[in-house]
Formats: sequence, C-alpha cells, structure tokens
Amino acid sequence: MNWISKFIKPKLKKIFKKQPAKDEKSLWTTCSCQELVYKDDLLKNLHVCPKCEKHHKVSCRERFKIFFDDENYTVLTTPQPIEDPLNFVDTKKYTDRLKNAKKLTNQEDAVMIAHGKINGIDITCGAQNFAFIGGSFGAASGEAFISGIQHAIDHNMPFVFFSCSGGQRMMESAIALMQMSRTVLAVNELKKKNLPYIVVLTNPTTGGVSASWAMLGDIQIAEPEATIGFAGPRVIQQTIGETLPEGFQSAEYVKDHGWIDLVVPRKDLKDTIGVLLSIFLKKKESEAKTENANIDTIEEPIQKTSEAI
Ligand SMILES: [Zn+2]
Repeated sequence: MNWISKFIKPKLKKIFKKQPAKDEKSLWTTCSCQELVYKDDLLKNLHVCPKCEKHHKVSCRERFKIFFDDENYTVLTTPQPIEDPLNFVDTKKYTDRLKNAKKLTNQEDAVMIAHGKINGIDITCGAQNFAFIGGSFGAASGEAFISGIQHAIDHNMPFVFFSCSGGQRMMESAIALMQMSRTVLAVNELKKKNLPYIVVLTNPTTGGVSASWAMLGDIQIAEPEATIGFAGPRVIQQTIGETLPEGFQSAEYVKDHGWIDLVVPRKDLKDTIGVLLSIFLKKKESEAKTENANIDTIEEPIQKTSEAI
C-alpha cells in the first residue's frame, strides 16, 4: 500500500491535474515590475505597461499599426539576398535559426519597410523586430533599409526608422559589417535630396547599428528608458576600470549628455514626428521657392540683354 500512496498516487494526481486552457494562459503576461498584466490592457496601452510604464518591445507590424494614420499602411517587398552565404554553424545551423525566426515573427528578415501617412504626411517607414535573431542587421536588413531609402527618394518623401537591435548579425560576419557603410551611403543620398530622416531609438539600440545609420537622423528621438550604446556596460567597466554612473546608457542619460535630441513616450511619437516633419517640409518648400526665385532673377537680366542685342 505504501508504495502506491507514495509513488503511484502523486504521479496519477500530476497527470490528471487540471491544466489551464491555452487561451486562459495567454490572457496574461508579465512585466519587469513583477506584476501580472492583462494582455488586453497592454495592447490598448500600445504595449506600454499600465503599472510601471515600461515600453515593451513590439513587432514591425505592431509598430506600423500604432504609428500610421488609421492603422493603414502598405508593406514594401524588399530584395532577398542569398541566405547563409558563409554556411555558418555555431550551436545550430544559421539556416535553422533563420527558419525558426521566420516562423516566430512571420517576417522574412528583422527589418520591414512600409509606406503610409502620419498626420496626413506621406512617409516611408522602417522598423526592426527584436524577436528576429535579436533584431540583428545582416545583408537582407541592409537591402531592406536601402530599398526603403530609395522608395523615399523616388517618391520625394521623408524616411522614419525605428531601430531595435543588438547590432550586426555575427552569422554573416564581414558581410553584415559591410552593411554599416552601405546604409550610411544610402542616408547620404537621402540627405542630398534634402529629405527629412528621423530615427527613433527603441530598446535596445546597440553595436553596429548605433555606430552607423541609427545615429545619423536629422532628429534623434528615443523611447523612455531605452538602452542606447555601443558596447555593453560590463565590457566598458572592465576596459576602463571605472564604476559606471547610475542610468548609464539609458535614453534619458544619453539625452542629458547630448547624444540624442528627445525622449518621447510611445503615445506621443506620432504627433511629435508629425509636427517635426511638417516643419521640415515647409522649410524645404520655402528653400525650393527661394532657389526658383534666384534662378528667375538670374534669367531675367540674361533675357533683357539678349532682347537689347
Ligand atoms: Zn510593468
């Protein structure tokens, strides 16, 4: 009898113990404030914890849905380079990691590009999904970013990008590093056309991403408490042998030290960027008018001279 009550009964109890239904489980999520948060409340609050205001990570589609007017946007098809050009294997094959990431995120790469309107202004917009191999930046991300900039140039519209990445994708090694210079050159092309480029740094933005295109915005905005930096604090601390100050590499800290311009809560991002873009575009319009007026004043005397002759 003893072995039945000691071993068999607990095992049977465990097997027949009521498991919460899948739907019941998925109604709640946890936050770093140690609170259970009702998923619906989190969704309604734009994925910001209603208790501690922590800005949770969002996917590219969720970002676009929050940002564009009437949740209306079109995703652009971006070029897909060869997958796994180096046949990279670490603890897993890179191709398997890609397969899992695609299945998990329903995205072809960490970067997605879309176009639509914010506050009535046509824009091209890009975003990174951290759930896709840490938002790491590889050849496909570079192609997506550059095609986004090309779309903005072709349609004469501003380019807004939401960064969220640990840096370049190590499984693509030097090919991933090359994307740093390619994206910087693309940003330069956009600037030559005098088109606004706004970067919103979300949690986290580090490594090669913060060392290239993510720091070249005309205006640098960050979401509250986002981690922004190049190397991690532990590496810096060990290298310089100093204790780092509190809040080091937080959005608020880097703003106070002149690295970024604004820290804006998610709910205010659309209006803030809308206002900034309308100012930039009016300035661009008036500059174009002045240029045209200058051309007219140059052409007029030429015409008069030719008439006199
Ligand atoms: Zn919280």
